[in-house]
Amino acid sequence: MKTILIVGGGAAGIAAAISAADAAPDAHILLLERLDRVGKKLLSTGNGRCNLTNLHADASHYHSSTPREAAEMLRGMEPAETLRFFEALGLRWTLEDEGRIYPYCMQASMVLDVLLAALKERGIQVVCPAPVKSIRKEGGSFVADADRQYFADAVILCAGGRAAPKLGSDGSGYGLAKALGHTCTPLYPALTALCCDMRTSGGLKGIRAPAEISLFAGEACLGTRRGEVQFTEYGLSGIAVMDLSVFMHQNKTMPLSIELDLFPDDEEEQLLSDLAARRARRGAAPLEGFLLGTVNKRLGFALMKQAGFGALSRPCGTLTDRELAALAHLFKHWRFSVTGAQGYDHAQVTAGGIPLTEIHEKTMESKRCKGLYLAGEILDITGDCGGYNLHWAWCSGIRAGTSAAKEVRI
Ligand SMILES: Cc1cc2nc3c(=O)[nH]c(=O)nc-3n(C[C@H](O)[C@H](O)[C@H](O)COP(=O)(O)OP(=O)(O)OC[C@H]3O[C@@H](n4cnc5c(N)ncnc54)[C@H](O)[C@@H]3O)c2cc1C
Repeated sequence: MKTILIVGGGAAGIAAAISAADAAPDAHILLLERLDRVGKKLLSTGNGRCNLTNLHADASHYHSSTPREAAEMLRGMEPAETLRFFEALGLRWTLEDEGRIYPYCMQASMVLDVLLAALKERGIQVVCPAPVKSIRKEGGSFVADADRQYFADAVILCAGGRAAPKLGSDGSGYGLAKALGHTCTPLYPALTALCCDMRTSGGLKGIRAPAEISLFAGEACLGTRRGEVQFTEYGLSGIAVMDLSVFMHQNKTMPLSIELDLFPDDEEEQLLSDLAARRARRGAAPLEGFLLGTVNKRLGFALMKQAGFGALSRPCGTLTDRELAALAHLFKHWRFSVTGAQGYDHAQVTAGGIPLTEIHEKTMESKRCKGLYLAGEILDITGDCGGYNLHWAWCSGIRAGTSAAKEVRI
């Protein structure tokens, strides 16, 4: 009997195991996981609800140092592929805002239960804890050292990246791939909050505001997203900010900054004339209430301080045209120096990885080592927040599992 060995029991590894078993029912499918259970990370995804995939999953939502290969690989990995996989396992799903798809019962644990049942029904051998320390090729087959030695005809490497190491992915997969002939692009934490200089805007912790958010390297804009910005004690967070963290490493020479446009649907001139009308209306009232009804109260105080308004006991009518112009400008262009990103412990994914140029796009088989397949986050492709990373993990896992099964059947 032929054996397909899968390293890593995360989203990609589980999808690969199920797909391999379906495509080669007579093969022995063996899944090795370094933690004491499979799918631990899945339970934390989507705030415990598991954002499975996204209706808009296409190449425009992914980042890679080889975008052409990424687009090529994503062809045939439409959201319907993920949904077909889960529907066949009996999972109902529901569509939320911005194309996000969740399990109907909104429980990540249900997604994992469905997957665990599928592994069991197919007789897939799951061994954990079984951290794989090395894999080598001897003749036409593979030998893996974990809790003991395992032999296999094909290996699917789905060991993830370095993000959220407490949930299993400790980066050991890169070493396993390198030992089998692969290279690895520089790695960095992504989909993570940004650390910013908050000295001039302290006291904003916990505030959330809608904004258009842009990441700059010097004066070059690296990316823009709309969404909710969250102020924290160390910097800025929120889905849009996390999406921008992927672009941080595009320019290493210029200082990075985040610019907030708090009123993206209004022109600066319009905002200025609104402020002038406000000044006329509020006249003798203290500045404390000048922005009443516009932005969060504490945010308003910080903006007025930053615009140089001085004491909040001062009457609104004393504001000069110059001061109003400074505030209107700040509404549209509030800049924060970026001092870094939060590390792997807080990142949702690892950007960078095994180059896609080293993988056959139609099968996920390695071009460097016949019989080795790679899938999931270990590869140099990163999706935006919104279900895109799990989508990649499922689809690349399904493709790798199906291809490996076809190969061992021959
Ligand atoms: C808190 C959090 C929330 C997230 N929410 C979402 C979301 O809602 N939607 C979304 O699309 N994405 C989300 N992501 C990202 C998504 O979870 C990952 O991109 C995806 O799980 C990657 O799947 P993977 O199987 O490639 O890797 P992983 O899920 O990291 O799985 C790799 C597995 O391999 C095991 N392993 C590693 N090394 C070895 C070894 N040497 N031997 C044996 N086993 C090994 C690990 O223990 C792990 O179980 C989230 C991430 C985090 C951290």
